[in-house]
Amino acid sequence: MTGTAGGSGAGARSGAGARSGTGAGEPMNPGPVGPGGLVDLHTHSSCSDGSLEPAALAQLAAARGVGTLALTDHDSVAGLQAAAEVCRAGGVRFVPGVELSCDWHGQEIHVVGLNIDAEDAVLLAHCAEVGRLRRTRMQRMGERLTAVGLPGEALTTAALSAGVATRRHLARSLVARGLARDLQDAFERYLRRGRPGYADIAWPELRRTVECIGGAGGVAVLAHPHRYGLSVSQLGALVAEFKALGGEGLEVSLAGMGRPDSSRAEALAQRFGLAGSVGSDFHEPGLPWRPLGRFAKLPSAIRPITASLDP
Ligand code: AMP
Ligand code: MN
Ligand code: MN
Ligand code: MN
Repeated sequence: MTGTAGGSGAGARSGAGARSGTGAGEPMNPGPVGPGGLVDLHTHSSCSDGSLEPAALAQLAAARGVGTLALTDHDSVAGLQAAAEVCRAGGVRFVPGVELSCDWHGQEIHVVGLNIDAEDAVLLAHCAEVGRLRRTRMQRMGERLTAVGLPGEALTTAALSAGVATRRHLARSLVARGLARDLQDAFERYLRRGRPGYADIAWPELRRTVECIGGAGGVAVLAHPHRYGLSVSQLGALVAEFKALGGEGLEVSLAGMGRPDSSRAEALAQRFGLAGSVGSDFHEPGLPWRPLGRFAKLPSAIRPITASLDP
């Protein structure tokens, strides 16, 4: 297994049937509705690789009828306080979260932590360490791009000045300089594993990551199981280990997740007794396949993870 955790838009744009009726121009399904409106438990702000500042994200969520919002930036809790304040003022229930990248037997996996204590020292140290790894990796990616004749240093400037250096920043720079048509093209040409700009990163192990979330008082949710390129049996092995380590939830309804993937996730959640989580994986406005708060409903047979979160 050598896949990377795929990203945004990938499946939604390339995979036939990957969209679940939320394409441009179509009416969008409302997401799951909690007591106070829509529920969205997976979003990103400019504190990682989203385009909106945490406060602006929270404002947009309120305007879109989201009643429960989790901010889950990649390996960062920097935006939680600002988002929480705006949510409080706007009557939105805020769930402090994070999305941690980690390693499971050579496979990159993402785990969302919900209801975490943003001041937990171990979690903060974890994020700081991953931040350093990311910066070193970004420098290596820049060198690799330079080696194929691209302006690697200039291309990595934005990523290296961001709170968390991600390939999405690099993809945006490639697009801005006309070196790729769009984010997807940038990943296909340069940034996917095996492409000239890709550099590996030694993510912390899944075990340590799940423990870190639990230690910070949070619940661990396995993110976007359909995006790892794993076979059904590999996914079963991952979910079994995740559950044994203390994982509590699985993302079952995500924007851009087609019915077959959602059904597989639903079956896994039931088999392993995991609660179901839902979210958009929102990064920026203007991507119709990732609208804030809009995605398929959680199947009624699945226990919602919101029941495990403090009121
Ligand atoms: P990193 O964590 O630095 O490896 O960056 C991965 C981020 O890039 C993900 O969180 C997504 O936001 C984004 N991403 C990954 N793959 C793609 C893709 N094929 N198209 C667009 N964005 C992607
Ligand atoms: Mn991202
Ligand atoms: Mn992810
Ligand atoms: Mn995400």
